[in-house]
Amino acid sequence: MDNCKKKHSIDGHTKIFGLIGNPVGHTLSPVLHNTLAEFYGHNLIYGAFPVTEDPMKAVEGAYALGIGGLNVTVPHKSAVMPALVEIDDFALKIGAVNTLVRVEGKGYKGYNTDMPGLYRAMEQEGIQISGETIVILGAGGAARAVAMMTASKGAARVYVLNRTPGKAQAIVSEIRSFYPECQMTAGSLSDSSRLPDGKFLCIQATSIGMSPNVDRAVIEDPAFYERIHTGFDLVYNPYDTKFMQLVRQAGGRAYNGLNMLLYQGVIAYELWNEMEVGAEAVDRVRQRLKKEMGLSDETAGD
Ligand code: NAP
Repeated sequence: MDNCKKKHSIDGHTKIFGLIGNPVGHTLSPVLHNTLAEFYGHNLIYGAFPVTEDPMKAVEGAYALGIGGLNVTVPHKSAVMPALVEIDDFALKIGAVNTLVRVEGKGYKGYNTDMPGLYRAMEQEGIQISGETIVILGAGGAARAVAMMTASKGAARVYVLNRTPGKAQAIVSEIRSFYPECQMTAGSLSDSSRLPDGKFLCIQATSIGMSPNVDRAVIEDPAFYERIHTGFDLVYNPYDTKFMQLVRQAGGRAYNGLNMLLYQGVIAYELWNEMEVGAEAVDRVRQRLKKEMGLSDETAGD
């Protein structure tokens, strides 16, 4: 048994939170936050708002309506920044916010909980960043933030490999200006066969392998996977990606991005409600997310 409170009803005191983005129909965030509200008996609800026009107006309107806080997703994570009264330092470095916290009488302060979410997910699995050699596949918005996180957490050496190497180079140049002590190198995907000796942690941050294209991995050469001691795929749908299968087949440990998604939401909930979310509540949310994803009982319990 857990200490789940009874389902709350909506009344004149209910605080409203939500997600802005476009599209938002696929989002799991309402399940995540409403499960936490139910668990703790908080009088709040969380909805999804498709924002097809100027996201700055959406932020200003939300503040005027007394919305307690917002998550922000693609394509508005950078576009909303000028509408904020304050931005957390790390979010400024990443150049994107995903969580807005209401500052009464002023507006919203922006945070990025994606990267602390990834870090917390990795910590939970005992995956170390400090002093490690790390290969990041991809150079999109997520890879950029991952690269920033690995540098900030003391990675010894980071390789950013991407189909379009110029985008990897742009990330590396920018991050070097913040963290000159981190040895960061950009390359193309084919450079994966020319990495120096030794094993590494590999973070898969491309969109390859996402449902419905589940039988693809961004690199398929088995020799590459022999080099990976731990593989972390940001993709979580499917639950077991081709990248993860290739890592395991070569003897490494593999994880998907569901816990990253879960913890970015947990950290946002903690910021909004000025509290710490406990392990029992986290487990409850994980079960609900898996159920929502249609996962079987075998995977629902792990
Ligand atoms: P993005 O900005 O669109 O970047 C996409 C990346 O995938 C780029 O590096 C792109 O390479 C690469 N790519 C796309 N098609 C490719 C192909 N055919 N061959 C090789 N590379 C290809 O996307 P993002 O926002 O960074 O997201 C990346 C992934 O992370 C998505 O699957 C997203 O769902 C996942 N994600 C998960 C979480 C979580 O909470 N678990 C959070 C954020 C993101 P080019 O630069 O060459 O185009």
